[in-house]
Amino acid sequence: MPMYLVLIGPPGAGKGTQAKVLSEQKNLAHVSSGDLFRDNIKRQTELGKQVEAILKRGDLVPDDVTIAMVRDRLKQPDCAAGAVLDGFPRTPAQAAALNKMLGEFGGKVNLVPYINVSEKSLIERLTGRWTCKSCGTVFHQKFNPPKVQGKCDKCGGELAQRPDDQEETVKNRISKYLSETSPLIEFYQKAGVMAELDGEKKIEDVTKQLLAAVAKIR
Ligand code: ADP
Ligand code: AMP
Repeated sequence: MPMYLVLIGPPGAGKGTQAKVLSEQKNLAHVSSGDLFRDNIKRQTELGKQVEAILKRGDLVPDDVTIAMVRDRLKQPDCAAGAVLDGFPRTPAQAAALNKMLGEFGGKVNLVPYINVSEKSLIERLTGRWTCKSCGTVFHQKFNPPKVQGKCDKCGGELAQRPDDQEETVKNRISKYLSETSPLIEFYQKAGVMAELDGEKKIEDVTKQLLAAVAKIR
């Protein structure tokens, strides 16, 4: 039976950072809806052109478009054993669609690690985030600096700041999270699959909490 882990938390909580480690450790695909959108924008596909302005503003892409994109991704062969979902679902409609599609794939949401971080930390994390243009590895100028400034430790690629990581856009993204996404915390709590992690701790300490929660899955 495939295994699906859904990382939930506000923008900047550390979902991408933790999803990378978790997917490698558990041999699962890392499926980030944000990365999928950014890849489409980079390649200027029809989907990319359709969503570019939405991401720039920090608004949410409509559910139907997002659900179809993630469904296609989860059907790929590298997701046969399951996936670590990062950034999806972000609305109750997406969460319902996910349950339905995982049922079709013979699986379910096994665990929802919720990375809880205060709003104050989020702004500092996002405005200091640097992402590798080639491999997507994420750094932070203060909390996780690259060995050589501007260069990726992993692949030597060039680091860039995301256009939606400016303070004004960050505030809009956090507000969208609070209104659209935070109801999912209760949804998954009621489903009995949520594990709350203290996201204020150091990256390595959050990873420890996360792996301990995953080890408890029966
Ligand atoms: P998300 O995917 O949830 O938006 P990221 O994983 O991209 O968040 O992390 C946002 C920024 O915060 C990155 O620059 C990352 O290096 C940094 N970061 C992630 N986790 C922590 C942590 N526990 N403490 C401090 N900084 C962190
Ligand atoms: P992220 O990389 O998770 O920070 O996402 C970046 C942006 O992509 C968000 O601000 C949204 O504009 C869009 N996005 C990513 N995932 C979703 C989703 N599940 N639903 C709607 N929009 C999304």
